[in-house]
Amino acid sequence: MASIVTFAEHRDGKLRRPSLEAVSEARRLAGALGASVESVILGSGGFLSGLADELASYGADKVHVFDAEALASYSTEVYARALAGVVSGTGATVVLVPFTAMGRDLAPRAAASLSAGLVSDCVALSVKDGRLEARRPMYAGKAYATVRWEGQPQMATLRPNVFPLGARDASRKAEIVTANVETGSRARVVGVHATATGKVELTEAQIIVSGGRGLKGPENFHLVESLAGALGAAVGASRAVVDAGWVDHQYQVGQTGKTVSPSLYVACGISGAIQHLAGMSSSKYIVAINKDADAPIFKIASYGLVGDVFEILPKLTEAARAYLASKG
Ligand SMILES: Cc1cc2nc3c(=O)[nH]c(=O)nc-3n(C[C@H](O)[C@H](O)[C@H](O)COP(=O)(O)OP(=O)(O)OC[C@H]3O[C@@H](n4cnc5c(N)ncnc54)[C@H](O)[C@@H]3O)c2cc1C
Repeated sequence: MASIVTFAEHRDGKLRRPSLEAVSEARRLAGALGASVESVILGSGGFLSGLADELASYGADKVHVFDAEALASYSTEVYARALAGVVSGTGATVVLVPFTAMGRDLAPRAAASLSAGLVSDCVALSVKDGRLEARRPMYAGKAYATVRWEGQPQMATLRPNVFPLGARDASRKAEIVTANVETGSRARVVGVHATATGKVELTEAQIIVSGGRGLKGPENFHLVESLAGALGAAVGASRAVVDAGWVDHQYQVGQTGKTVSPSLYVACGISGAIQHLAGMSSSKYIVAINKDADAPIFKIASYGLVGDVFEILPKLTEAARAYLASKG
C-alpha cells in the first residue's frame, strides 16, 4: 500500500500545531491516494510515546519513533537521514513537512538525499489523476502557482495555520515502531538558549498584533503589546522597527522574517510594503490602522481604520478588554 509520511515536530514536550496540521492533511489526502499515513518523530524521552498517540488520534496509522539521547537537539544531518530512511524504507509516495524554521531546513536536505522534488510553502494540496497538485505563493505573494511533481516521492512543506486540523479521535490507535538512526554528524549542538518563554509563538498564533514605524519609537511599542495582551495575541513587527533595534528579529514578519497565517492580523502603523505582505497576506482577516488613507496595507485589509495609532490603540485595547471581560 502506498504511504504518506509526515514529519512531526515538538517543543517543550508538546507537538507543534503545524505537525498536527500535516498529519490531518495527510489523513484527508489518504483516501484519494489510497494510502496509509505514517509519521516520523525524533527526540529523547518517554514523552515521545504520548506524542505518537496524539499523532494517531489525528490520523496516523503508524508512527516511527526515534528515541535517543543524541536526538534531543535538532541536527539537520541526522534528522534528514532519519526522515529519508523512513521514506525510502516505506516507499512513500508523498512526504509532508511543516514549513517551520526546522522544516525549512530539514525538507530540502531530505529531498536532496532522496532525489525528490520539493514544493515549499504550500497553501493547498489536492489529488489529480492519482498525483498530488499544490498551490503555493510566488513573487512575495503577488501570484499563486499550481505545481505538480515529476517522479516520486512528492515532497511538500506546508505553511502553518493554513491547513485545518482534522477531528481528533482519542480512541484511534497507531502501530508504534521503534526506529534507530546513525547519529554521527559533522555538526554538534552544544547548547540551546531560549529567548522568549511563555509567549505565544508567532507562526502558530491565531491572532497577531504587529507594529511598524508609525509607532515612532521603541518607547511606544507597549501600545502594540497591550492590545496583543488584551486579545491573547502574539506580537509581530515590520522590518523597519527590527532594523531600528526596537524589537528582536524573532518578531519580524515578512519575506526575510516569519511567514504567518493567523485568523486575525492587526497591522499598526505599517505601510504594507510588498516584503511585509509576503509574510502575512494569507491571514484570514487583516485589520490595518494607518493615518495615510493611501497606504498600500489598505489594499489587502479586510477592515481599515484611517487614523492615529496613538489615539486608536489605547481605545481598541480598552474596548477589547471590556468586551472579553463581559464574555467572562
Ligand atoms: C530584500 C528586502 C527584504 C525585506 N524584508 C522585509 C520583511 O521581512 N518584513 C518587513 O516588514 N519589511 C521587509 N523589508 C522592508 C520593507 O520594504 C519596508 O521598508 C518595511 O516593511 C517598512 O516598515 P514599516 O511599514 O514599519 O515602515 P514605513 O514604510 O515607514 O511605514 C510606516 C507607516 O506608518 C504610518 N504612520 C506614521 N505615523 C502614524 C501614526 N501616528 N498613526 C498611524 N499610522 C502612522 C505611515 O503612514 C506609514 O504608512 C524588506 C526590504 C527588502 C529590500
